[in-house]
Amino acid sequence: MSNSPLLQIQPRTSPARLPRNGKRFFIWTIGCQMNEADSSKVAAMLQEVGYEPTRNEDDADIVVLNSCVVRQSAEDRVSGKLNNLARLKREKPEVPLVLTGCMVTRQQEKLRQTFPHVDLFFDPSDFGKLQQVVPELSDLDDDLQQLPHYYLPEQQPGTASVTAYIPIIYGCNFLCSYCIVPYRRGKETSRPLVDIVREVERVVETGVREVTLLGQTVNAYGHDLPDTPSLAMLLREVDKVPGLERLRFLTSHPKYMSDEIIDTMADLRTGCEHMNLPVQAGDNEVLRRMRRTYTRDLWMERIAYTRRQMPDVTVATDIIVGFPGETDEQFAQTYDMLERTRCEKVHLAMYSPRPGTLSARWDDDIPHEEKHRRHQVLEKLQERQCTEINNERLGKSYEVLVEGLSKGRWTGRTRGNTLVHFDDNRDLTGKLVDVRITRTSPWFLIGEATGAPR
Ligand code: SF4
Repeated sequence: MSNSPLLQIQPRTSPARLPRNGKRFFIWTIGCQMNEADSSKVAAMLQEVGYEPTRNEDDADIVVLNSCVVRQSAEDRVSGKLNNLARLKREKPEVPLVLTGCMVTRQQEKLRQTFPHVDLFFDPSDFGKLQQVVPELSDLDDDLQQLPHYYLPEQQPGTASVTAYIPIIYGCNFLCSYCIVPYRRGKETSRPLVDIVREVERVVETGVREVTLLGQTVNAYGHDLPDTPSLAMLLREVDKVPGLERLRFLTSHPKYMSDEIIDTMADLRTGCEHMNLPVQAGDNEVLRRMRRTYTRDLWMERIAYTRRQMPDVTVATDIIVGFPGETDEQFAQTYDMLERTRCEKVHLAMYSPRPGTLSARWDDDIPHEEKHRRHQVLEKLQERQCTEINNERLGKSYEVLVEGLSKGRWTGRTRGNTLVHFDDNRDLTGKLVDVRITRTSPWFLIGEATGAPR
């Protein structure tokens, strides 16, 4: 999942239940798509009781920060933001300051001491707590259950979103030794299949053409539900929604990446030729200590199977370098695995211990400079491989879903999730356009539109 800090507030598609009350809310979000979805839900709750969004915290009648602690750098940014807001709190003590997201632990004493100016801490599964600072919400208890779970990425003003992210399963049943998520988000809880399909229908009616189903372990979907539907079953139902053009899901766990899911994606009209399958390390001993519950061979075999079923598939993965005790030889195994697999996107992270996790009790023995060196080595490998992969695309045509303008150029993604830019005088937002590639770089493609937009 991404780690870009974004302010994303969605206009509600239904009229607020209570009339506008002249109050405004400001939400600041950092972290993964699940956090974005949670922030969107908080926004929907506040709009339901008459609040409106503002992009300026100084104008707000309530400020909500949605935090991430998956890496030290993310946690530092949240602390920095909280400290900055102390000024606002001094000037406007009546404006509630709320902290949610993965920084909020069940034991909140330490947080209260460190950030005494925060009025309310609530953990991501406990939205009802907002009532403590927004009493109007208490009249809406039942209706809050009906609020949307999805979020739409931020668009230019006046432009409707063409992509939507929909959480389908919350929490995680794994206990990877470095990861804080299970302690913050609890056990896996899947949403009923019919609710998800209805939500897809709803967003498609607003003009959305691409949906990404979300979960920390999205491919574990359904095992906790009465009829134990699988992700494959859900994908088949979502695929039937008229008007939907593209379907993706993230983040997957290799252990749950079944043949059935891969075969289904390969078969479906909307199934995108893109596989996001975090591996984290290419050495079995490191994987064992990470408690990832699979081997390097299993991951490589899953990728190979996916490529057999979908020859055009692009592959993305996540890697952590400098895990405690990772030797040069073990790192070399990761390098070797990535060299063989040729992923299109590798999300790289340097290990940082997260308090409360198992690995935080171990010696963080790889010096920062060495972590940095390993990070750079893999970055270089990725640049070389992406240059080669993209060079092979020169002169070929790809279907691009246009998301909007960026620096005066149309920007969108292929079905394989590759970024494409092109010039055109027509208004193409939300259109599917065939683009012939005329220039390449490691990170994006440039081309020209051919044929009629659809
Ligand atoms: S699968 Fe592992 S890394 Fe992913 S959220 Fe669960 S515990 Fe964390």
